[in-house]
Amino acid sequence: MTQDTMNFAGQVAIITGAGGGLGRLYALELAARGAAVVVNDLGGSVDGSGSSATAAETVVEEIKATGGRAIANAADVTDEAAVNAMVAEAVEAFGRVDILINNAGILRDKSFAKMEMANWNKVVDVHLNGAALCTKAVWNVMKEQGYGRIIMTTSPSGIYGNFGQANYGAAKAGLWGMMNTLGLEGAKSNIHVNCIAPSAGTRMTETIMDAGTLKMLAPENITPAVVFLCSQAAPTRKVLVAAAGTYTLAEMVETQGIHLAEGDRTPEAIAANWGRISDRTDAEPVNSAMEGVAKLVKAMANA
Ligand code: NAD
Repeated sequence: MTQDTMNFAGQVAIITGAGGGLGRLYALELAARGAAVVVNDLGGSVDGSGSSATAAETVVEEIKATGGRAIANAADVTDEAAVNAMVAEAVEAFGRVDILINNAGILRDKSFAKMEMANWNKVVDVHLNGAALCTKAVWNVMKEQGYGRIIMTTSPSGIYGNFGQANYGAAKAGLWGMMNTLGLEGAKSNIHVNCIAPSAGTRMTETIMDAGTLKMLAPENITPAVVFLCSQAAPTRKVLVAAAGTYTLAEMVETQGIHLAEGDRTPEAIAANWGRISDRTDAEPVNSAMEGVAKLVKAMANA
């Protein structure tokens, strides 16, 4: 691998849902920086209905026209056999898989009261289970190589919530959870797992945002953040938020809280101490579930 961390010559990237929107831009940029790219896209509509191989093929033609290397793939990310075949095809064509960007996604928004469970299941299936299937399919390839960069596409909806998106928000938060554990499990094999939380004007958002906002949220602003997460310089287990040229880190933190002595552990005491429990002074991220338990036990020992 090259010393220039933002040059991807010799590397291979699989990008799901790359037939349009954000994924297409990631594919074009990684290819321009030397990566061989598998452009995956089912080619359906925003709600996940229909399919067409043309979307992925068109992006592959764009890449080839500028001298890049790419192959098209129309696998549905929820189809385990098709996903495994896609990864096998990538290894067959290019010899390895360095980068997976789990980007494919759909929307089926409804307030929870009106949401049919079929629309809950479909959204969770594409975003969360689809990312799990693709990640599972590349995981051992990356472990054997001793190198990998995996990007999950979460969303401000997943980390903060958004009216009408309980299904989408749950799936997107699930990706954050998956990242936290896979980052731990991949560490010794130099597999870094991160999330991008974009906001961008694409077909997915064009009907829910006004023209002025869409113009500010040019999708091109997301690409540098994702390319960074694809690189050797990528951190691991981080959520990079990107919109309109602003880049921030989103982190879950836990407050210092209080320790209640045995016999004092009543709901009344929790209510009376809510101000101290929720006081964010000295709140800090917790690096793993085990570290979280250790923190609570230490608070007991110190009490
Ligand atoms: P988009 O609709 O242009 O792109 C999504 C792509 O995924 C489409 O090309 C679609 O054909 C493909 N796809 C859908 N289901 C698939 C399946 N089962 N298998 C394979 N491909 C499939 O929208 P976008 O805005 O570019 O979205 C890209 C990702 O970014 C999505 O995961 C989306 O949830 C996420 N995201 C977007 C925004 C935003 O503001 N645009 C915000 C937060 C998160």
